[in-house]
Amino acid sequence: MAPQSKAFMSLLNERTVAVAIIFAVALLWSVGQITFLSGVIIAAVTGVTLLQLSLKRRFEELEARRKAIQKRKKDNRTTTVSIRAKALDLLPSPFLLIDSNHQIAVANVAARELLGSEIVGNDVSLYLRQSNFVAALEATLSDPDADLQVIRYTTSKDRSFDVTVAAVPQMKSDRNGPEAMLFFYEVTSLIRAEQMRADFVANASHELRTPLTSILGFIETLIGPAADDIEAHGRFLGIMQTEAERMVRLIDDLLSLSRIEMTRYVAPDMEVDLSKLIVNTVSTLQPRASDRGITLKSDIPSGLPLVRADGDQLTQVFINLLSNAAKYCDQDSSVHVTAAPALQEGWIHLTIRDEGPGISEEHLGRLTERFYRVDTARSRKMGGTGLGLAIVKHILLRHDSALEIKSELGKGTTFAFKLPVAKINNA
Ligand code: ADP
Repeated sequence: MAPQSKAFMSLLNERTVAVAIIFAVALLWSVGQITFLSGVIIAAVTGVTLLQLSLKRRFEELEARRKAIQKRKKDNRTTTVSIRAKALDLLPSPFLLIDSNHQIAVANVAARELLGSEIVGNDVSLYLRQSNFVAALEATLSDPDADLQVIRYTTSKDRSFDVTVAAVPQMKSDRNGPEAMLFFYEVTSLIRAEQMRADFVANASHELRTPLTSILGFIETLIGPAADDIEAHGRFLGIMQTEAERMVRLIDDLLSLSRIEMTRYVAPDMEVDLSKLIVNTVSTLQPRASDRGITLKSDIPSGLPLVRADGDQLTQVFINLLSNAAKYCDQDSSVHVTAAPALQEGWIHLTIRDEGPGISEEHLGRLTERFYRVDTARSRKMGGTGLGLAIVKHILLRHDSALEIKSELGKGTTFAFKLPVAKINNA
């Protein structure tokens, strides 16, 4: 029954009882059992008592209703708090709330993964010990209007974060609640990219400076001590030419890399005939390979479908891989190029296998880094720039592909990758 109708019923009952008592008193008075005054007193006392009872019940009902409203509000607050906690857990960045005693009041999942699962309730300085952190937190907790501060924090595992320390506005009813928040923004990859850029500039400058220093040295010798040595002139000019050509190759490779990086997110849209491209590249490179007695052999099945690629970039991939094989392979050996439909439908699988000395395991993962060489002196002697495989890697990335390198010392090396078929025939 609804509370209103319940109240009405109880009132009705009280009225009925009052009427019944008044009627009984009137009856008793009429038959002379009680005096008129006694009747009035009995009726008045009964009326007041019933009125008191009714008011009491009414008050109890109002009190019950107030308690129900309060409980509903509290339930709503609890739900809101737990929704907020869940939302914070969805944040991929670590987030902490710190109370006025420097204890961690709230830590989302990312923060617990970073600093430890049991951090809530502990002093934050156990985890963030840097003095500038302690100072920033102190300033924020002592002055809620303090400016927010951003502090670089690096973990023992070399992850770096920019941590924002900011005051959290206090509610009057929440005197002991959280007073500062720490928001961690990960900058590890940005720092690595910055470092890579700096290393690249340093490496490129070093690679260019080496031949340049050599050329300048020979110029000085030709102007000075060897000015009249005609026989030395020819020899020195020959070396200078080789060094200058190395610089040109290096600059060409650097420009290629930057052009490839600029097109990284532009999908290749040419339909390329692999058989033709491989045959042309092999015949262009064969004369140079023959100088070392190396034979380039290709095995391409007829009817190979066209691939979706950038023809010029793909030619560069084959030139780099085939000329590496010709450079580093033993004399009088063979290099094999194969192309065949891959197990994965819609792709062509390509390999370039040599019978060279092979590359030991520890170098394989780093070969596609810019300027990484197994034997720098040998690479330079062979005219290498240290950028050939980096160029291959970036071209293949643009083609949604990757370079796989397998090698066995004394047996040779195989470079493999796949390319997407231009049109898949579903018929
Ligand atoms: P480089 O201009 O020095 O050849 P690359 O990026 O093309 O630069 O190759 C990186 C290094 O990988 C080379 O210096 C060489 O040590 C090694 N390498 C590449 N291809 C082969 C190969 N087919 N056999 C043995 N070593 C190779």
